[in-house]
Amino acid sequence: MGLNYIDGRWVAAQSGATFERRNPADRSDVIGTFPDSGHDDVEIAVSALIKAAPAWAATAPERRAEILEAAAANLESNAAALVDELVREEGKTRAEATMEVGRTPMNLRFYAAEAVRTTGTTYPSPGEGLVFTVREPVGVVGAITPWNFPLNIPSRKIGPALAAGNVLLLKPSELTPLMGQRLVEALLAGGLPPGVIALVQGSGKAGAAVVADSRVDAITFTGSTQTGRAIHAAVGPERRSQLEMGGKNPVVVLEGADLDKAASLIVKGAFGLSGQACTGTSRVVAVDAIHDDLLSRVVVLAQKLVVGAGGDEGVTMGALASAGQYRKFLDYVQVGLDDGAELICGGTPHDDNADGFFVTPTVFSGGTPEMRIVTEEVFGPLLVFLRTENFDSAVDLANNTEYGLSSSVVTNDIATALAFAARTKTGLVKINQPTTGMSMNAPFGGFKASSTQTNKEQAGESMMGFYQCEKTIYL
Ligand code: NAP
Repeated sequence: MGLNYIDGRWVAAQSGATFERRNPADRSDVIGTFPDSGHDDVEIAVSALIKAAPAWAATAPERRAEILEAAAANLESNAAALVDELVREEGKTRAEATMEVGRTPMNLRFYAAEAVRTTGTTYPSPGEGLVFTVREPVGVVGAITPWNFPLNIPSRKIGPALAAGNVLLLKPSELTPLMGQRLVEALLAGGLPPGVIALVQGSGKAGAAVVADSRVDAITFTGSTQTGRAIHAAVGPERRSQLEMGGKNPVVVLEGADLDKAASLIVKGAFGLSGQACTGTSRVVAVDAIHDDLLSRVVVLAQKLVVGAGGDEGVTMGALASAGQYRKFLDYVQVGLDDGAELICGGTPHDDNADGFFVTPTVFSGGTPEMRIVTEEVFGPLLVFLRTENFDSAVDLANNTEYGLSSSVVTNDIATALAFAARTKTGLVKINQPTTGMSMNAPFGGFKASSTQTNKEQAGESMMGFYQCEKTIYL
């Protein structure tokens, strides 16, 4: 049975309530039961973190770095078991799980290096005094995370928060509580002092309780735009929040592009992780001259995908993560049909008799700007084609949603690629690459409704700045 980790002890929820997580590819496979926490658990967890905060803030950065390194090594030594558990808990394929399990310790090592890299600045000062800055931890960080990268995303929050000397409460998604527990176990095995981290599991109430506790100084959140907006409103101006949210990511394909290459990167971006990636490709904007040819190539590749349980040999598209995801996908297929889009392939459950949430890779054509499947995030394997005349109209269509996370252009012309990069309103711009995929040491974040517009995640000063307070000292 899974437990919370609060004040240095593994404990049940105060209320005794639990929730169950099952394998989305095989509903008879129970992953475990976990505490269904609420306000009381969060209250105790935050009080304990506040007690532990001064000692951790005073811990030498070198020691913090050593602990993150040791936690990374622990994850690596358990990698095979973690891959199995991740496949079972989330439903992703073995290849996808292997990539995530490999990436997570690399993240922790990256932030270990940041722990010892923190600097201040000295400034020319009036008179003979000295003016300089120091960076201090913010205090208590609340990390609220989604299920689609349940090791990788929390590690990108826990790593910098602990490296900077903060204490942290992790609230994993209710769909992937076991991966949250495994991360905390690895950190403790790496020597993290017991009070410095808290794990509070929950299905529905715990996240809001973390945000509502005004003693939590900073909230780092990744999840849907709807939840992010609610968090932003609740946090208010006195506290910090970093919100990484949804996307509706386009690939623009222009005349003269390599269509085999375009089809392959579109299918990778649209159906990798069963379409459940924030940077997943959900729209293709193709100019008239190549639209039909590209569409047929994409459909051929989409139909070659092998849908099934992520752990099974040869499977290239796993289950959707939950009954909610499954229903939402099928509902959006109906919305697309009702709005007049043409269903080219997929749009159905993969196997009516399967005991898991399997659906077929789905391609619509005839998308228009007002259709809901063109503007709303489905977060499933549903791709829609929009036909257009030229570069200018393609860019306008690509920019025509409230989101601004990732976009891609497929072209053989460097000037066109750079013109696209200049005009696309997304935080990540890919040229002849899928909308998915990121470099672990480059800034990551979107525009518009995809991210808060400051404190980009992942790398550099901007990333560490979220977890640090800067003081200017006059001596
Ligand atoms: P979600 O429903 O917004 O949930 C994310 C987390 O927020 C979960 O831990 C959830 O807890 C918690 N939560 C829910 N309501 C809350 C509230 N009112 N206050 C505080 N916390 C609350 O998102 P999801 O379904 O897990 O993840 C899919 C979404 O994440 C997609 O929109 C995707 O685009 C986005 N995403 C974005 C990025 C990025 O970097 N931009 C990366 C990955 C995913 P419960 O599980 O208990 O509800």
